[in-house]
Amino acid sequence: MNERLETNMLGIYVQCDGKGGPNFTHVSCDDYRIVRENLLHGGDETAGDRVLTHTVLIDPHLGGVGMTERMARAQDEIFV
Ligand SMILES: Cc1cc2nc3c(=O)[nH]c(=O)nc-3n(C[C@H](O)[C@H](O)[C@H](O)COP(=O)(O)OP(=O)(O)OC[C@H]3O[C@@H](n4cnc5c(N)ncnc54)[C@H](O)[C@@H]3O)c2cc1C
Repeated sequence: MNERLETNMLGIYVQCDGKGGPNFTHVSCDDYRIVRENLLHGGDETAGDRVLTHTVLIDPHLGGVGMTERMARAQDEIFV
């Protein structure tokens, strides 16, 4: 599969859980957008430059983006 979500079979695309992680509902929606634009509208959309967020579907929804505090500390990226 390439960043346009094309498989090595002409005209066959793969989305979200089908392509193997990360498995999130919003990834599925954005994959749909990419395939729709490329397949139906001759677009050149890719998943390559996507900023990946994570969500937990609780009420209210919990979401996050970027490094965790632990990751930032490990890279000395904390500026206070
Ligand atoms: C328990 C659980 C909790 C989750 N919690 C979260 C969360 O908190 N946050 C989050 O972002 N994501 C969460 N996810 C992940 C999210 O649900 C999936 O990543 C997302 O739904 C994947 O979308 P998809 O389109 O790849 O597949 P799916 O949503 O599974 O859609 C596939 C569709 O294809 C249909 N289908 C299957 N076989 C055929 C066939 N032969 N012919 C026709 N249709 C077929 C199925 O019926 C289904 O409707 C969770 C998933 C699970 C299982």
